[in-house]
Amino acid sequence: MSDCLFCRIIAGEIPSSKIYEDEQCFAFKDIAPQAPTHFLVIPKEHIGSVSEVTAENSSVVGHIFEVIAKLAKEQNLESYRVVSNIGEQAGQSVFHLHFHVLSGRDMTWPPG
Ligand code: 5GP
Ligand code: ZN
Repeated sequence: MSDCLFCRIIAGEIPSSKIYEDEQCFAFKDIAPQAPTHFLVIPKEHIGSVSEVTAENSSVVGHIFEVIAKLAKEQNLESYRVVSNIGEQAGQSVFHLHFHVLSGRDMTWPPG
């Protein structure tokens, strides 16, 4: 059994509110939403963070952004933010690559 939380969510060992799945990626609602809409899109392959993206595994990142655009259209999101935290100082708490999709409230820039 993997000790990676998100690998376990993909495997169905930990329940989640799934909103999309295909052969390459999995999307589910964040358990502690920071906006009215807050979901995560993750590769099924374990990649630790953006800093582990390479020429060999980067095609899934393009695919994930296609999926984000499709899900945003389906949910009629007119304005949204896509965030990936890399490393603890930037706020990463789960070390499996994930893209947050946040929408439905005013957002500050620069981020805190
Ligand atoms: P990070 O802090 O690494 O950028 O993002 C990890 C995200 O995963 C957080 O927003 C956190 O709320 C979410 N999260 C942590 N554990 C779980 C869980 O068991 N289920 C779901 N759906 N989200 C989780
Ligand atoms: Zn993992």
